[in-house]
Amino acid sequence: MRYCKSVCWIRRDLRLNDNIALSSAIAQSKEVVLVFVFDSNILGKLKNKNDRRITFIYESLLELDQDLREKGSALVVLQGDPKIEIPQFSKRIKANAIFVNRDYEPYAKKRDKAVQNTCKKLGIVFNDYKDHVIFEGNELLNQSGKPYKVFTPYKNKWLVELNKTHYQNHKPNLKGLSSIKKLRGELSDWSFNTIGFNSVKLWLKPGQSAAENQLKQFLPHLNTYDKYRDYPFITNGTSHLSVHLRFGTLSIRSLVRVALNSTNSGAKTWLSELIWRDFYQMILDQFPHVVKGCFNQKYEQIQWPGVERHFTLWCQGMTGFPIIDSAMRCFNQTGWMHNRLRMIVASFLTKDLLVDWRKGEKWFAKNLLDFDLASNNGGWQWCASTGCDAQPYFRIFNPITQSKKFDPTGNFIRQYLPELNNFSNKHIHWPHLADREAQIKLGCIFGKNYPKPIVDHTEQRIKALQLFKF
Ligand SMILES: Cc1cc2nc3c(=O)[nH]c(=O)nc-3n(C[C@H](O)[C@H](O)[C@H](O)COP(=O)(O)OP(=O)(O)OC[C@H]3O[C@@H](n4cnc5c(N)ncnc54)[C@H](O)[C@@H]3O)c2cc1C
Repeated sequence: MRYCKSVCWIRRDLRLNDNIALSSAIAQSKEVVLVFVFDSNILGKLKNKNDRRITFIYESLLELDQDLREKGSALVVLQGDPKIEIPQFSKRIKANAIFVNRDYEPYAKKRDKAVQNTCKKLGIVFNDYKDHVIFEGNELLNQSGKPYKVFTPYKNKWLVELNKTHYQNHKPNLKGLSSIKKLRGELSDWSFNTIGFNSVKLWLKPGQSAAENQLKQFLPHLNTYDKYRDYPFITNGTSHLSVHLRFGTLSIRSLVRVALNSTNSGAKTWLSELIWRDFYQMILDQFPHVVKGCFNQKYEQIQWPGVERHFTLWCQGMTGFPIIDSAMRCFNQTGWMHNRLRMIVASFLTKDLLVDWRKGEKWFAKNLLDFDLASNNGGWQWCASTGCDAQPYFRIFNPITQSKKFDPTGNFIRQYLPELNNFSNKHIHWPHLADREAQIKLGCIFGKNYPKPIVDHTEQRIKALQLFKF
């Protein structure tokens, strides 16, 4: 054993199963204390006290703590600035080492560096591990020894380099955790009250066991993933695991094991999506300028002419385009949106309303339950054609064609826009063709019960094309 006592600090890895930092800490220490910090730097910036993500984290931790208590241990929960709290706590309990899983967001990298520096002065060793992705940072490089900028060659390299060690199960032996008796003085009360947020109702269950159940429920649908993944009205068309991946209530390795276990085309396509996730994490890590600016810096010169009023109507789901409005209202009600719809609404905001992608990205960041800086930024820049492996700027989604193709019977639209219920499957995608008499008959007057379209797609498309020509 290298260490007498260690702290394992969990952040976006809220699970006991298949956790590299935790299993390494236990393997190398006589005794391990598991710690989470409600970070005042992050929480302080959240103005909405009903933020769904806090409920997800809180309930996931509650389950984790209960699991530990059944095994005779407990979770230590701290509140404050982790740069101060983690070194102070480690010193107080006389820990020799800290174990964490790496996080590639700029704030997290800076925070961890500061913790590491303070710990060094205190004689506490800081150990960090790759756990959140399969390949990180500069592990996969192109033939010129540079990070990839395009997805397909990155994916090919990812598949060639992959071996069993990359996705093996790191099962911690939980017997190595400190007993509750020893932790007694460190177990403070933590409640929604003490962290200053409200508990809200979520559409999915938080926690490790819910994540595992969600995966089990999706498994029978994996083989048809390639066929159904683009249809938002199909319940199990996609896995709905993004929130669990975001907070680490499930490990990425467990999903890769599942994908590799099947040889069908559904599993292959799903694995490809997991690789997209790794790709965007790598882009964020290697090209951190994307946080504020265009990946492709030549597009910084675009002067986006979109107006605030259009942005507000987009956020509210009041644009008069049914597929956009139903997607945005679903998002506002649940904090989640299907991938196809994310692409359609992002394209609409940037290429139809001509609003800077950063505004949409921020709105998603504020409200997405699965918000992940890397994937969100990557997704927005892809749709706005400012990103890596960009959709060529001249490929602009037509929201009505997309609606007909991916919600052919209007089932999704009807779920969130009941005011359009009486329109036929054919007309629901563009109900504005109905004259006044038909509107009265169908119980929906445009401008009163449902907005008139705020822009003309054909005109806006031409303007968008002009924006990118320089
Ligand atoms: C504008 C925009 C913003 C996005 N913002 C986020 C975000 O903040 N957080 C987030 O996790 N995903 C984001 N995505 C990617 C994608 O929409 C979601 O991951 C997906 O909808 C989650 O649903 P699922 O879990 O059912 O995915 P599945 O289709 O079952 O895919 C499995 C997993 O693969 C990963 N994945 C799938 N598609 C992508 C993708 N295009 N890029 C990166 N990873 C992917 C996710 O972790 C997902 O859970 C965004 C996409 C766009 C176009």
